[in-house]
Order: sequence, then C-alpha cells, then structure tokens
Amino acid sequence: MRLAGKAALVTGGTRGLGWAIAQRLAQEGASVLVCGRREEDALRAAQELAAFGRVEGIGCDVGDPEQAEAAVQACVERFGALHILVNNAGINRDRFLARMREEDWAAVLQTNLTGAYFMARAAVKPMLKAKWGRIVQISSVVALVGTAGQANYAAAKAGLIGFTRSLARELASRGITVNAVAPGYIDSEMTRAIPEKERLALQSQIPLGRVGQPEEVAAAVAFLVSDEAAYITGHTLTVDGGLSMY
Ligand code: NDP
Repeated sequence: MRLAGKAALVTGGTRGLGWAIAQRLAQEGASVLVCGRREEDALRAAQELAAFGRVEGIGCDVGDPEQAEAAVQACVERFGALHILVNNAGINRDRFLARMREEDWAAVLQTNLTGAYFMARAAVKPMLKAKWGRIVQISSVVALVGTAGQANYAAAKAGLIGFTRSLARELASRGITVNAVAPGYIDSEMTRAIPEKERLALQSQIPLGRVGQPEEVAAAVAFLVSDEAAYITGHTLTVDGGLSMY
C-alpha cells in the first residue's frame, strides 16, 4: 500500500498497459481515474478494476485541451486531489515516410506528445497545491533506437523524453518528479496487430528472449510514483528485456 491516500489519473487506462498500470496503482492504495476516448469504455474499465481498489472512469481525448482540463478537474472533484499523472494514452499510424500522410503525422503527435502536454499542464496545478506530485510519461524504446516505418511515433516518443527532462528541472524544487518509462515489445492490442513474421523477428532480438507483459511496465511505474523514488527525476527507465542496450 505504498500509494495509500494518493489520487492518480491514468490516460488510456481502458486496456493494455494503461489498464495494468491503473490496476497496480489501485492495488497499492491509490484512488484512480482512468480515461479513454469513449466514456463507455472508461466506465467499463473502471468497473473491471473496482475489484482492486477505488477506480472511476471518464471519457477524455487527451489531444483536446478542454477535455484534458476537465479530466483533471474531475479527478480533483472526485478524489479531493491529483498527485499522480501517468501519460500513457498513445496511438500509432505506421507508414514509411514517403507514404506518410500529414494526418498520420499530426494524429500521432497530437495524442502522444501534445496530449501529454495538455494533461501535464492541467495536472501541475493541483500537484503544486499538494506540494507533492509524480508525472510518468509512457515513451518507448522506439524513441531511443528508432524503427523504420514509425518516424511519427518515434518523434513523438522522443519528444516526450525531452519534455520529461525539461519539466523535471522546472518542477524539482516543488516536490514534483517527472520521469519516463520506455517499454520495449509488450503484449497488448497495439503489438498484437503486428504481422506474426515481424513479431517473431522482433522477439528474436530481445536478450531476455520473450515479449514483456503489461504488469511488468506497471511495476516500474508504481515504483517511480512511490515515495521510494523521491530522488529520481528526469530519468527514462527502459522496460524492454534488454532490447535497447548498447
Ligand atoms: P493500446 O492501443 O492497447 O491502448 C491505448 C490506450 O490509449 C487505450 O486505452 C486507448 O483508449 C487510449 N487512447 C488512445 N488515444 C487516446 C486519446 N486521444 N485520448 C485518450 N486515450 C486515448 O496500447 P498499449 O497499451 O500497447 O500502449 C499504451 C502506451 O504504451 C502507448 O502510449 C504506447 O505508445 C506505449 N507503448 C506500448 C508498447 C507495446 O509494446 N505495447 C511499447 C512501447 C510503448 P481508447 O481507444 O478507448 O481511446
């Protein structure tokens, strides 16, 4: 129960990594608000997660500044505070650059990077008030090593790392830490969409020899948002089975 008394908002908590992160934070004692673009999915996820602790759901497109503000406000109204923000919501629109449409570029940047900015900008206010805060951005190893066909995704995820470091410096004196987690190849709907041949090729490059589980990313997030990680800020923690080491 490292997070008893804490209020958390997890974006993209309707499935996959976000769902597992919300589950873990709730198990550790936090009250958790999960969001996804569709209200009914967020409510369904909250219902599934209610077995692990206090979890509520809200519809919110993180790429819309008004919806981002409203989600933060809802967290404060329902739980009395917002101590922890996990910017997990993300999409991909993979294409080689020559075929990448402007809308593929814009959509990925809007959700994966600008959405994190909208959420963090809104969330910082209650954190400053509480004089305690934790922001964790879910980046990707793709930000560190690149992947052909994912220039938009890699740019957004690398942007998150720079955003994390700047914000970490800006907020350090206020009791707020800002870190990034860079998962490798984790089992989720996003990665199940990769053709099997490509998936097996990817898997063969992982030193630990297997795909990661969402719970393994959630464990890293739970550590970074706990008091135990109070002296860690501006860091990017890879959770990738060794994939990106050099
Ligand atoms: P999924 O596609 O399974 O889940 C994505 C989540 O984000 C869903 O809850 C989705 O909900 C939500 N979401 C998407 N767009 C928005 C939006 N505009 N506003 C609010 N919520 C949104 O992905 P994963 O669980 O695999 O990935 C989660 C994060 O981890 C992403 O940022 C991804 O880039 C990152 N990541 C994943 C890896 C992997 O191997 N799986 C590896 C490295 C990083 P809804 O559709 O209901 O809006």
